[in-house]
Amino acid sequence: MMLTSKSVTALQPTDTEENPYFYTFRVQCTSCHETHPNWVSFNRFDVHEIPGSRGEANFVWKCRLCTKTHTASITSGPKAYEAQEKQGSQNILEMDCRGLEFIEFKPDGEWEAKGVDSTTTFTGIDLIEGEWYDYDEKKGEEVSIKEITWTVGR
Ligand SMILES: [Zn+2]
Repeated sequence: MMLTSKSVTALQPTDTEENPYFYTFRVQCTSCHETHPNWVSFNRFDVHEIPGSRGEANFVWKCRLCTKTHTASITSGPKAYEAQEKQGSQNILEMDCRGLEFIEFKPDGEWEAKGVDSTTTFTGIDLIEGEWYDYDEKKGEEVSIKEITWTVGR
């Protein structure tokens, strides 16, 4: 992900075992290039058995076209986006994808961040519109996140 903010940092999804974040994607089969008609969501705590295998994964999908079973698991993250570092793209999530590719991400859960030079913590941040505005009471300043872009895949 990449964004612009001079007022908040350590942006990350609110993702705990008690309150898991559901990561929402568009998914494509790498065998037949069929794209799932709907958005798919999964979290990093729930695991599902992989049919015909002993393994487990956070996301198991049987492609309706080629009928192959594909899986994905979150292997690392979420890592907080540090807005104060040099602006640029930062990896917040790493996944092990087998036979599928995520082609689009929809940030439809709650995010949290910290105020820059402030002790304020912001929760319930909604990034679905691609920007977010609030007010840091302790600092007496407006805070914002803008120009959010998401990159998925390689
Ligand atoms: Zn397929």
